[in-house]
Amino acid sequence: MLRRTKIVATLGPATDDPKVMDKVIEAGVDVVRINFSHGERDEHARRVDDVRNRARAYGRQVGVLADLTGPKIRLARFKAGSVFLNEGDHFIIDTRLGGEDGEAADGTQERVGTTYKNLPNDVGRGDTLLLDDGRIQLWVEEVRDHEIHTIVKIGGELMNKKGINRKGGGLSAGALTDKDRADIKLAAELEADYLAVSFPRNAADIHEARELFREAGGHGGVLAKIERAEALDALEEIIAASDAVMIARGDLGVEVGDAELPALQKKIIHMARSMNRVVVTATQMMESMIESPIPTRAEVFDVANAVLDGTDAVMLSAETAAGKYPAQAVAAMDRVCKSAEKQPLARISHHRLNTQFQRIDEAIAMATMYAANHLGVKAIAALTESGSTTLWMSRISSSIPIYALTGHVTTRRKVTLYRGVYPVSFDSTSTSHAEVNQEAVDELVRRGAVRDGDLVIITKGDLMGVMGGTNAMKILRVGDMPAPTT
Ligand code: PGA
Ligand code: MN
Repeated sequence: MLRRTKIVATLGPATDDPKVMDKVIEAGVDVVRINFSHGERDEHARRVDDVRNRARAYGRQVGVLADLTGPKIRLARFKAGSVFLNEGDHFIIDTRLGGEDGEAADGTQERVGTTYKNLPNDVGRGDTLLLDDGRIQLWVEEVRDHEIHTIVKIGGELMNKKGINRKGGGLSAGALTDKDRADIKLAAELEADYLAVSFPRNAADIHEARELFREAGGHGGVLAKIERAEALDALEEIIAASDAVMIARGDLGVEVGDAELPALQKKIIHMARSMNRVVVTATQMMESMIESPIPTRAEVFDVANAVLDGTDAVMLSAETAAGKYPAQAVAAMDRVCKSAEKQPLARISHHRLNTQFQRIDEAIAMATMYAANHLGVKAIAALTESGSTTLWMSRISSSIPIYALTGHVTTRRKVTLYRGVYPVSFDSTSTSHAEVNQEAVDELVRRGAVRDGDLVIITKGDLMGVMGGTNAMKILRVGDMPAPTT
């Protein structure tokens, strides 16, 4: 059985061992995430090279998602490396400490610096500051010039450079830092298939990132990470501005409260799909597998539920980047996704029955899925340039594989993130349409996707090789194709 839901795995020290990387590829990873929050430039470049080389050796296509650090606000360092805060302690965040970048280790039991010098203007008495993903909570008593005076509400050990969020959101830092601007150039150089923008507030943040990415020569899609409370107020415009979105449950859960996450996940997946965008569900999906070779039951349910919600992809973070069992984590996701996809809930579509289509290629894609789902078609072969026909098709729930047949390697890599879409290298330059039909079917037969007697739908344009030119669908029975004369 082909898995439709795609698996994104974050690369890191744990996958640097070539044997581990090979096992991760064998276990079926579709897209790898390069996390610019950790590691140096050369390290990222080497990882991208390695994964593409190994994927080629396996005859596989693996997409690359380059994830920007974004304006993650952090505390600076401590003289002692960490402090222990007790409930009721007075603690000051002092923007004069920590140096420009928060690297100066001058924090004490009483006060510490931050990377975000504007913080005193963004908070006031009564706010709650969440440190280290909410493990420690501070109540703001007073803001005095450079100092935010707080009282510890929930204590614990506070290490160097932990993140700060304000409960309810509202920190005004822009989405792209100077580091992000430099990293966008690197992402373009690495020919990333997706650029992930961290902490966007609105569509303008996405447009800006896309412009910089294009200026730097980047060809990939732009993915918005939904991880700030403000982004929820601008959800529709952010999704419209992006090619894909990520439900970044880590930071988002800190800002809006963990209990809000399940409903938000369903809402964002539904909105993204109905707006013809791709959606990734991320963070702590197999968290216990950082230390354990098997997932918890709750994690199995979480991955399966994301599949039933309609996500395109599920993502692994520390499980693969720094965990003890990277390949097992991918294999566990693979098996849980496949099983969830057998549920009728994952297959039935009531999608866009009452909308007008804007484009001819979109109408062909929709008509194809309607016919395929109701006629017992075995496979769909979409001859595509940009992959957009397959994107529309994959927004419709179905159990029928959609093969993206294309001569463009960038398109083959882009569709690695689309649910139910599989990239196939295909040269459609042969002269007659009948020949191309035959070659497309032969390719599916070679892959074991179809055999004699099966129904196949082929979509293509009269003028092959033209973007957005798909204007035809053809239903064929394998084995009784007309002789290639017309
Ligand atoms: P991160 O994003 O892993 O880059 O923090 C994902 C999240 O916040 O959930
Ligand atoms: Mn995040």
